Amino acid sequence: MATHSAAASDIGLVRQSNQDSGFAGRFLMVVADGMGGHAGGDVASHVVIRQMLDLDRPFDSPEKARKVLRDELLKINALLIGAVVERPELAGLGTTVSALLRVGDKAVIAHIGDSRVYRMREGKLEQVTEDHTYVQRLVDSGRLTEEEALVHPRRSVLLRVLGDVDARPEIDTMILPIAPGDRWMLCSDGLCGVVRPDEMRGALLANADANAAAEALVSASMQLGAPDNVTVVVMDDREEPAVESVRLVGAAAKPISVSATTPAPKGRRRPTRSLPVATSEIPIVPAGESESNPDSRADTSGRDRFGAILNRWFGDKGNTPS
Ligand code: CA
Repeated sequence: MATHSAAASDIGLVRQSNQDSGFAGRFLMVVADGMGGHAGGDVASHVVIRQMLDLDRPFDSPEKARKVLRDELLKINALLIGAVVERPELAGLGTTVSALLRVGDKAVIAHIGDSRVYRMREGKLEQVTEDHTYVQRLVDSGRLTEEEALVHPRRSVLLRVLGDVDARPEIDTMILPIAPGDRWMLCSDGLCGVVRPDEMRGALLANADANAAAEALVSASMQLGAPDNVTVVVMDDREEPAVESVRLVGAAAKPISVSATTPAPKGRRRPTRSLPVATSEIPIVPAGESESNPDSRADTSGRDRFGAILNRWFGDKGNTPS
């Protein structure tokens, strides 16, 4: 079975910048929702997703992939803390991360924060991650209903994120089966905090194509006023072979010249701003070389890449080739 993936993101109708990032790859799907810091949350979600791109490759086993994914997020957390020491303007930055790594017929999931992973199977939409939020804790303990949580004034308070907060944050991981015909959807709270589950389900059912589904969900949030950045990644398991493409959206797409996009038609905002990624941007590991990529093993090269990503973001003359 083949993986068909798509991503879409929009700044929304209220915010001044898009601090969300999304990635839809051949094996890896990620949504990150950045926050805080003088430098802005966009740098947090950008560097995290850029640093994770190396994981878009085949793995031998789901257990191995789970360990690599979790270790990578903990390593990135340490790198973010280190980056704040060198760049004080980054203090207070953090990001949610919801990642799905496909290993055969298994979905390996790593999650921290309030972005979400959903699975749609046989027309039924199910949330598979749990929000690490203050209101979710109240819901779990029976002090708040799901409906009340949607409008609670403290609904955006996060208990866990990746970033300059906790040296060893707790990251949820799961290994779940992928059934033929499954559709998996990752999103930031700009979608699930705005669009109701039955509407999300409707948009997913009405759009067979992954790209169309991702864009329909972003549009659904826009129609409801899009008070927040909104990012959606869709992964379909289908029989027909996939068109090999990877896509970065939101802040993760930023260093690629935005002028490359077509200008918005007059009088109406483009529903999404997603950019196809030049292949040179993505470290491609040929199949069969799984887990032997020296880049992911040598800690120093991971740190160098992280430094290069940050330097590019800030426009520094980095001395590390990217
Ligand atoms: Ca958000």
